[in-house]
Amino acid sequence: MNRFATIPQVETIVSDILLSRWISVLGRPVVLDEIRTVIAEIRKGLKEKGDKFDIDRTTIVRLVDERCGKLALQIPRRVINGTGILIHTNLGRSPISESTWNNALESNCRYATVEFNLETGKRGNRAELMTRILQKMTGCEHGIVVNNNAAAMFLLLASIAKGKRVLVSRGELVQIGGGFRIPEILAQSQATLVEVGTTNITTIDDYLDNIDDQSAMVLKVHRSNFAIRGFTREVSVDALAARLPKHVLLAVDQGSGATEDTVPGETSIRKLFEQGAHIVTFSTDKLLGSVQAGIICGKQSIVESIAQHPLYRVVRPGKTVLTLLRQSLVDRINKIPAITERFARRTPDDLLRMGQKIIDALHDSRASIVPSTMYWGGGSSPDEAIDAMAVRIELPGCASSVAASLRKEPIPVIAYVSDDALMINLGAVFDDELDCIATSLKSVLEKLSCTS
Ligand SMILES: *Cc1c(COP(=O)(O)O)cnc(C)c1O
Repeated sequence: MNRFATIPQVETIVSDILLSRWISVLGRPVVLDEIRTVIAEIRKGLKEKGDKFDIDRTTIVRLVDERCGKLALQIPRRVINGTGILIHTNLGRSPISESTWNNALESNCRYATVEFNLETGKRGNRAELMTRILQKMTGCEHGIVVNNNAAAMFLLLASIAKGKRVLVSRGELVQIGGGFRIPEILAQSQATLVEVGTTNITTIDDYLDNIDDQSAMVLKVHRSNFAIRGFTREVSVDALAARLPKHVLLAVDQGSGATEDTVPGETSIRKLFEQGAHIVTFSTDKLLGSVQAGIICGKQSIVESIAQHPLYRVVRPGKTVLTLLRQSLVDRINKIPAITERFARRTPDDLLRMGQKIIDALHDSRASIVPSTMYWGGGSSPDEAIDAMAVRIELPGCASSVAASLRKEPIPVIAYVSDDALMINLGAVFDDELDCIATSLKSVLEKLSCTS
């Protein structure tokens, strides 16, 4: 008898209820691929082991379901952030407000006046209002939006400094996040990097001594993910603005998008302009709490010439980003705090009350609430710990497996382990997530039956 005949057809397998749910998530051809792969593996097994290798439809479905489940893990999913890092780069930086999202729904799901003037019925420019908002938010003369701050830096350098010299302090030649290295961005933009000063000390003369006719720009880069302490000196934007010759542009990669001077360790964009910066670039998904984009703003004539560069077309965001971003920035100039800003303002008492709700629902003597710290993260205020609270559950020998199981819950909870205890920092937890955390903890602790 032909032993391959015992393997069911691809088409009948894909209609299995367990697998059909993956079709809308992964796409039918991808699910079919997975089925074919599993069947091919089984055929190989049959060849090697002969007729004794027994295979049924249920086994195939189970194997395909497992593989589809693994693939689906690559789809960004909502999680509960128990890490205490408010702007967590691996968790999508800043969450944006639901009202911002809802406002953008209609203009994105139907046709919209992206570049159309309703008064004239002709092509129209939508940039004017965005510029007005940016002026109010930062004190700039003009501003443009690009895909992210890396793109902002690249466009700035390629359009202003290609083939010319750009001076950067050795203390600011940084890598930010996954692979954004200042020297590499400079090289790609075909600007010539001129390193000045040393890692810990850079003086005004280090800059001035290196300036010649071919020097287009001094670039200051905010050290957003580390701090240098001890015997250090750097040159302020004021000092540079006062001494740089007229032909040298003073640009600042501010990074965080801080618009107020209330976040320790961060200088607001407005302040940088007051100190004499000509151009500032920043991300909009850090302290601004909006979607991923980058902004280049500053002197009108310079920003206009940057916008003339062909690369601007390459790094320009689409209507989805622009509609969401405009609403977030309007909220900002109306002084409505971003979600992460609200989180940072919660007091330890607020967090204690939240923790108590989890503890009350949990009824477990191993659980308690302990003082902890939260961080802005995402390349903002690297040094600044903010007082917070965490739920701590003593689980000797078991904490990591509980943390792993929490990541497999319907809404995964991202906790961490600290000397044999499971920790859920409440700093970045939404008020309406407490029940969900308690339910997940209960079910995971019961399932794993960790005994102390
Ligand atoms: C975050 C950051 C960047 C990179 O910004 P993206 O928006 O991730 O491209 C560059 N420079 C500084 C100083 C930053 O903080």
